[in-house]
Amino acid sequence: MNRISTSSFKFFFTLPFVLIISLGVTINAFGKEIPIAKKGILDLRGWNFSEQPAINLEGEWEFYWKEYLSLEDIESRQESKVYRQFPKLWQNDSVGGNLITPEGYATHRLKVILSSITPELSISIPQLYSSYFLFINGDFVTSNGHVGVSKETSLPHWQPQTNDLRVTSDTLDIILQIANFRHSKGGASKNLAIGTKDFLQSVNKRTQAFDLIMGSSLFFIGLFFMVLYWFGRHEKQILYFSLFSLFYSYRSIGSDTYTLHYLVPDIPWILTLRLEYITMYLSAVFFVFYSYHLYKAETSRLFVKVSLGLGVTLIIISLFFPPSVFTNFATPYSIYVLLSFIYLFYTYVLATAYHRIGSKLSLVSTLFLFLTISHTILAYLGITEPVRTLYFIGFQQFFFFQSIILFYRYTLNLELAKKKAERAAQSRSDFLSMISHEIRTPLNAVIGLTNYLISDKPKEGHVEDLRTLKFSAEHLHVLINDVLDYSKLDAGKIEFEMRDVNIRQLAENIIRAFESKAIEKGIYLKLNFDDKIPNRIITDGLRLSQILTNLIGNAIKFTSTGGVTLSLLRVTSSMRKVAIKFLVEDTGIGIPKDKQSSIFDSFSQASSSTTREFGGTGLGLAITKRILDLQNIKINLFSQESKGSRFYFTQAFEISEIQVLPSATEVEEKVDLAGKNVLLVEDNPVNVMVAKRFLSKWKINVDVAENGREAIEKTASSKYDLILMDLQMPVMDGYDASSELRKQGLKTPIVALTASVMLDVGDKVFSCGMNDYITKPFDPDDLYNKIKLQMG
Ligand code: ADP
Repeated sequence: MNRISTSSFKFFFTLPFVLIISLGVTINAFGKEIPIAKKGILDLRGWNFSEQPAINLEGEWEFYWKEYLSLEDIESRQESKVYRQFPKLWQNDSVGGNLITPEGYATHRLKVILSSITPELSISIPQLYSSYFLFINGDFVTSNGHVGVSKETSLPHWQPQTNDLRVTSDTLDIILQIANFRHSKGGASKNLAIGTKDFLQSVNKRTQAFDLIMGSSLFFIGLFFMVLYWFGRHEKQILYFSLFSLFYSYRSIGSDTYTLHYLVPDIPWILTLRLEYITMYLSAVFFVFYSYHLYKAETSRLFVKVSLGLGVTLIIISLFFPPSVFTNFATPYSIYVLLSFIYLFYTYVLATAYHRIGSKLSLVSTLFLFLTISHTILAYLGITEPVRTLYFIGFQQFFFFQSIILFYRYTLNLELAKKKAERAAQSRSDFLSMISHEIRTPLNAVIGLTNYLISDKPKEGHVEDLRTLKFSAEHLHVLINDVLDYSKLDAGKIEFEMRDVNIRQLAENIIRAFESKAIEKGIYLKLNFDDKIPNRIITDGLRLSQILTNLIGNAIKFTSTGGVTLSLLRVTSSMRKVAIKFLVEDTGIGIPKDKQSSIFDSFSQASSSTTREFGGTGLGLAITKRILDLQNIKINLFSQESKGSRFYFTQAFEISEIQVLPSATEVEEKVDLAGKNVLLVEDNPVNVMVAKRFLSKWKINVDVAENGREAIEKTASSKYDLILMDLQMPVMDGYDASSELRKQGLKTPIVALTASVMLDVGDKVFSCGMNDYITKPFDPDDLYNKIKLQMG
């Protein structure tokens, strides 16, 4: 892009702090006596390059319009010489009777007189409009493109250069031939400079380094926000900031100093010129979009529409029209951009007044942009020397603050969304808890009483009916528990209770629990336990049991010939850790290939006939997968239809150092419960009735308290061997009552009776000083064993 548009464009983006710094630089520059060329001669005899390493070749140069002249040609000329300011664009001005139009060609000449022969000098040439040849003392030095007398014979090219002079005399006779037949501007807008080789080269390197750092950091900022947009919440302002950064990153290397042309020297001029303009329009439009989405209420929609319309029109012009046309729009567009920027600044002030999120940071950030751009403008106007460090700091700060704003808003929105989701999950979970409690209380009574009736010598004709009643009630119970468990898992509200677990015993217990079912179906059920697995590991035993129970339950359910094998194999182990592979294999009906992934979804079954034939809710595998997901473990499935299925996963455990307490089964036979005194704390009369029937059957004396308060009173006057404590009760609940009893120093074992399957009940129960818990409706054997264990 030409000098004006770049500068003005940056101006839009950047004004204030630069004013101050620029002023300092300007005063400094004016403080020195700087030689200027007069009548084609720049006298540098008083100039010492070791003190001031570079000087611009500025002032009156000899000027020959529409002529390409060599040194000899010029020397042989008799007519009077014509002079013109350099650098100066060909702006339809008149020199020596000629009209100097942007389109044309000319020879410029300057004689530089040095104080001595200074061989270590270099010359730096910016990009000129739009091609040039440079000769010094009659020798060709360098060129950009090709100069000619028409559009066909000239070839534009822009690559700022620094060349060694290897001076052998104290006079430099500079001939500069410039041609322009393509661009809307002709001639030169920037200074040539001579200076010591080291100085000019280091300036050059610094410029390129700045451009590259700027370009690549903007590119990666853009990429980063793009990824954030893509994988995170699809927030528009993030997308637009990303696009703005990406397009602007091109401008850091593809405009002004054209570092890109050093990297890719043969890149076609027309391509880079079009890219330079298009990226300017795109970055401006995306910046407007970005600001609009940041502060929608404060930004006018009309302004956004006008910016978009203008941007799109100019992009189309830049794509399809020749440079002599589209390069005309840079300067007016820069003015539009400048005004837009002032307007956007005003919207930020409004946003700050309304305390919008991140608006103060937006103000600070745009202040930096203002400062940087003002510096650029001042430099363009020639009031101050451009200082690239200032561009660099200004733009870096601008992007830095904008990134902070986006991040701040992003995390804030994420936090709000998270809170909203948590609230929703909480109310859903509360609702389910409440409903399930309501359903479970009568259901407990149904199951409890059915159990009792079955065990109490029922009439011959009633046995089958009672079994069906028991099956249906239990099925309903499993369904409620599954739904509750799933909703809890889905809300991510599960905490794993890591305890010392005897893994061999856990596996054996699960197998034992399913043995009768397997025998009933006439299939085998085997445990294959790798002896190299250490017996005691640290894990959440309940959750692991739940997974294996689900998998084995399914395997048995869907197998009618052959059988089921549970294998636990050691994969790796060290002193402290062991990785175990769990496999549940069956020789059942198998799962069709196309259903293998969907069966892990909630309420999904391989075929619609499954429920009719086998029952089930379609939640077991969803729960299993979720429990494993929460521990970053993948469950795998290999299955062939009508041959069988294999579900497997590998989990790593810490090896436990703790000795395991004797288990329930070990104490089972030692204690007789007859004549023991149990206090049953329960408010629901049906539950009282069910529990009492079993307890009385085991010849236990039962005393009943209706709530926690009554339980405290009763324990003060009577001695009990065990307390069965309901948790949810009026007046005083089971938790408070247990805490109170423990505070009073009561040592009697307390077993909680909970209607909740929520596993976090466990923690709460233990922290209130209770010894164990049992979920209602209790399995009579389970209740019997737990009571025995506590009394032993
Ligand atoms: P449910 O067993 O309650 O229907 P699950 O989520 O446990 O729900 O299982 C989902 C479906 O996956 C089952 O309905 C069944 O179609 C299929 N499935 C699961 N395990 C097996 C297995 N071992 N063999 C055949 N099909 C299975």
